[in-house]
Amino acid sequence: MVLYQCQNCGYVSDYAVTVCPKCGSKNIKKFSGKEEKLIKKSRKTNYLHMKLTRFLVKIKKYAENGVKENLDPACVKIFKEVEHNCYESYQKIVAELQTHMKGKKWG
Ligand SMILES: [Zn+2]
Repeated sequence: MVLYQCQNCGYVSDYAVTVCPKCGSKNIKKFSGKEEKLIKKSRKTNYLHMKLTRFLVKIKKYAENGVKENLDPACVKIFKEVEHNCYESYQKIVAELQTHMKGKKWG
């Protein structure tokens, strides 16, 4: 299989394109073999990262509610740890996705 990437804006298509749907450039490069595999692996990994961030936001909100309930110090401690861990994991994912974009691990 072949992937097509606009060399102007980075748009990637699984279908043959001669004109970029995003920016209109005709500077399209074909990718196959190792490069295609890397783009597809990056695509899947980035998708998984984005899915995780959604769950982390939800879990963090539950933890914040637990802190507000303030049942006892042990519970509050757990909720605060979860809240903190969700925040850190979210920020790590954002930093990693920035690395992927700079390293052209996207598509
Ligand atoms: Zn383009």
